[in-house]
Amino acid sequence: MEQTRTDRRYDVIVAGGGLTGVAAAVSAARLGKTVLLIEESGCLGGAASQALVFPFMPYWTKTTDGAGNTEKFVLSRGFLEEIVRDLEAGGNILRGTAFDTEALKLLLDRKVTGAGAEVLFHATLCGVEKKENTVVSVSAVTAAGILTFAGSRFIDCTGDADLAVLAGVPTLLGREPDHLCQPMTLCFRVGNVDKKRFFEAKPLWKGELYDKWKAAGKTSNPRENVLVFDYPAEGVLHFNTTRVVKLDPTDPFDLTRAEMEARKQAAELMSFFRECEIPGTEKAELLYTAPSIGVRESRMLDGEYTLTGKDLRACTRFDDAVAAGNYDIDIHNPEGSGTSHYYFPNGTWYTVPYRALIPKISDCRNLIVAGRCISVDHEAQASIRIMPICTTLGEAAGVAASVSLDEDVPVQRASVGRIRKILAESGAFTGI
Ligand SMILES: Cc1cc2nc3c(=O)[nH]c(=O)nc-3n(C[C@H](O)[C@H](O)[C@H](O)COP(=O)(O)OP(=O)(O)OC[C@H]3O[C@@H](n4cnc5c(N)ncnc54)[C@H](O)[C@@H]3O)c2cc1C
Repeated sequence: MEQTRTDRRYDVIVAGGGLTGVAAAVSAARLGKTVLLIEESGCLGGAASQALVFPFMPYWTKTTDGAGNTEKFVLSRGFLEEIVRDLEAGGNILRGTAFDTEALKLLLDRKVTGAGAEVLFHATLCGVEKKENTVVSVSAVTAAGILTFAGSRFIDCTGDADLAVLAGVPTLLGREPDHLCQPMTLCFRVGNVDKKRFFEAKPLWKGELYDKWKAAGKTSNPRENVLVFDYPAEGVLHFNTTRVVKLDPTDPFDLTRAEMEARKQAAELMSFFRECEIPGTEKAELLYTAPSIGVRESRMLDGEYTLTGKDLRACTRFDDAVAAGNYDIDIHNPEGSGTSHYYFPNGTWYTVPYRALIPKISDCRNLIVAGRCISVDHEAQASIRIMPICTTLGEAAGVAASVSLDEDVPVQRASVGRIRKILAESGAFTGI
């Protein structure tokens, strides 16, 4: 394939247009930087649009004052709140969480272009040119061959840490010691459901009837129950219930097997509704499965600091905090059935240090990693991975890239005080 070195040079190049990448691109562009966002699919939103992940998991805690009054205290603010506000204004989100997927995609297009960032769809990052510990350019496979773009700062928002890997920066896969990752799940939507009757019949499909059907060997899905959400469209339900374990999301052959296995599980669940005559599903039809299977966990940066589950449970307030969260440590069993949770008490949260977003300086001086592939262990990843927290990490990464450019220093030397000040000025909450 022909390789073309473009004459385009950007202050910041972002790889991956999920919510993280959009937040990174928008925040850097709003700070006056020239930005290129490279995305392999044809739309923004990442897991939300490609894997149909839905809804936003809760991103607030509840605080109680001396008089016993309880208040909602939002932890993921800034760009995430802006997105929620805009979706609300268009009537496209319920309770701040249940968003319309198509409305989100359209809104994200407007956000990046409105901020002045350039977007390149259908472009898969495939190469990195590095001189000593500095990334000079990245290449992407496109319909016009392999295009190369030069940049000053690079932000990896690919979810799988693809840019870091191509840059020779160390990463870790899954949990210690066996490197198994959380299961993959193909989400799907079912239409023509009488939702009222379906939810009234919950004891049937979330109880004995489902257990009996499963015990009869009617599905290969190891998940313990049926996970379903009400989708904001008439008669439509969102299922997040298929489960594929013990496959490596960074191995394309494993990914292929996972897609086929999960598609089969979706069809099996439709048979369950029919065979067991679940009320409300008499006319139900499988509308579509997601374009791609959802990957909860894969490679994670081995960075300047590795945030751990222990840090989270201690609600550690790091001096260099750039984001906060309290989503439970939610581990879908990487080996089969079961899901474990550690819930944070009301009024508490942990912070994410900037050092978890950057490689060691000897590995790379101008790369930042954001989203679900930051430097975390398996447990910490199980909490920071939700869309609202990933969005705040992207926003912090965009600001940090901009600050390190303004100060003309490696990303490891960027003034954390300045990063935190800019984040606070733009409405973000960093947790300390
Ligand atoms: C099944 C499932 C259910 C979940 N449920 C919820 C939920 O209910 N609520 C919630 O808040 N979170 C949920 N999550 C977690 C959440 O969706 C993700 O962790 C989060 O969206 C990750 O965001 P990201 O931007 O880091 O990565 P992604 O959203 O994965 O975005 C990465 C982007 O990079 C692009 N990309 C990847 N590689 C390349 C490349 N080489 N070149 C160019 N582009 C590339 C991809 O196309 C994608 O657009 C769930 C996840 C899964 C898998």
